[in-house]
Amino acid sequence: MQYHPDKPIIAGNWKMNGLRGSKIEIEKLVNFLGNNNQNSNVIIFPPYTLISDFVNIAVSSDLFIGSQDCHQVNRGAYTGSISPEMIKDLGCNFVILGHSEVRNTKDESSILISKKAEATHKNNLTSIICVGEDAKSRMQGKQLDYVSNQLLKSIPTSANINNTVIAYEPIWAIGTGKSAHLEDIEIMHKHIISFLNDSKIFDNNPPNVIYGGSVNADNSRDILSIDNVNGALVGGASLDSDEFIKIIQSI
Ligand code: PEP
Repeated sequence: MQYHPDKPIIAGNWKMNGLRGSKIEIEKLVNFLGNNNQNSNVIIFPPYTLISDFVNIAVSSDLFIGSQDCHQVNRGAYTGSISPEMIKDLGCNFVILGHSEVRNTKDESSILISKKAEATHKNNLTSIICVGEDAKSRMQGKQLDYVSNQLLKSIPTSANINNTVIAYEPIWAIGTGKSAHLEDIEIMHKHIISFLNDSKIFDNNPPNVIYGGSVNADNSRDILSIDNVNGALVGGASLDSDEFIKIIQSI
C-alpha cells in the first residue's frame, strides 16, 4: 500500500500508551477500514514495542503503521535509539519527527529534525514534521514567525509531496482538551502553505499540512473542513478505536 498525497490524513499518535492487549483496537480499526471505502490515509503510531504486532495485523489492509521518532543515522553505537532502516524493515511507512514532546524533552533542534527527515527519505519513509508555537509566543503574537523559523530549519532539500507532511501542532493545545480556535488554525495553515509555496524545496507544490492539538470526535468535522487543513494528528482520542473511527468518518 502507498501513501496518496492527494488524499487527507488521519493519524493517531499513541505516545507512550498501549500494551500487547491493545491490539484489539487495531483489529477493530482494520475491520472498519476493510468495510468502508477509504477517502483518507489512516495511520497509527504506536510505541516501538507494538510496531511489529500492529504491522502484522495491518498487513494487506488500508491501515498504515508508523514510528513516533527515529535516529538520524541507520546504524552504530547509539544505545537506546531506533534507526530509520529498522523502522522500514519492520514494515512502517511513516515517521513522526519533531513532535513538541520530543523537541522539549530531548532538547531537539530543528537542524537535527532536518537531518532525521533526510535519513527517513533515504529509507523511503514519509516524515510528518511537526511545528507549532508555545503559549508565550502566541501571547506575544509571534506565532507566525515562530513557525516560519521552524519550517525553514526543519525541512531538508530531499523533501517532496510524497515523502513529507507538515503537522501544525500549537504546543498549548496538545493534550489540554483545548483545541485552537478555528480562525487561528485557518490563519496558520494559510501562512504555512504560502511559506511552503515560496520555499524552493516544494516548487509551488506543497505537501499535506495537517492540524494536531486536542482533536476529538466532537470537533473534528469543523477542524477538517477548514481551508488548507489536509487532515489531523490525533493524540488521546486515537487510543479508543470507536472514537478514532468517528474522526475518520468526519472527513
Ligand atoms: C499529539 O500527540 O500530537 C496530539 C495532538 O495530542 P492530543 O490530540 O492529545 O492533543
